Amino acid sequence: MTSQSFTIAIDGPAAAGKGTISKAVAAHFGFAHLDTGLLYRAVGSKVLMGEQPIRAAQALVAEDLEVDGLRTAEVAQAASKVAVIGDVRQALVDFQRSFARRAGGAVLDGRDIGTVICPSAEVKLFVTASAEVRAERRYLELREGGSESDFETVLADVKARDERDMNRAEAPLKPAEDAIVIDTSDLSIEAAIAAAIGVIKEKQG
Ligand code: C5P
Repeated sequence: MTSQSFTIAIDGPAAAGKGTISKAVAAHFGFAHLDTGLLYRAVGSKVLMGEQPIRAAQALVAEDLEVDGLRTAEVAQAASKVAVIGDVRQALVDFQRSFARRAGGAVLDGRDIGTVICPSAEVKLFVTASAEVRAERRYLELREGGSESDFETVLADVKARDERDMNRAEAPLKPAEDAIVIDTSDLSIEAAIAAAIGVIKEKQG
């Protein structure tokens, strides 16, 4: 392992394939991986249990990311609601930045990694896909996990989150100017991973 840092920022909307690509990229290069959505989900989940959002964000500890139940649609919506609060976002900045600069390399996936958290990341990817394709993937995932849900509800959820994430005042979801966009609508997961690895290898020189 190298003692140098190397940061890969992977942003994009819900269910575009960021998580899968980030894990595969981290495994391929031997880098650490942080799913930053989990930070917002952990805060959202605490708010659903009655806590105050800013206080919950300020008191967040690593173990909070490991609790069960953070992957539900209800927690996802709660996460995107707390994510519009500037003081919540601010409370989570230092943890993400120090993770990004750890020795040996780091992959962070989220919504504002290339734009706000790590504007000087060595590689910035923006992974996207059409809302319908993303909803279809999420719907199949939920069904496999045993949840009862219908496609129209999942599509409405995806669109509501997109709307909130893209239109908020603080750190809205958008590609960094120097991000490379990977549209996974018509790509298999293997092809999307290969595309991401190809871009990173090129940047590593
Ligand atoms: O990526 P995931 O779906 O787990 O994220 C949940 C929510 O957390 C997103 O809809 C978004 O509102 C928020 N989020 C964010 N910034 C990040 C990661 C997630 O605002 N870096």
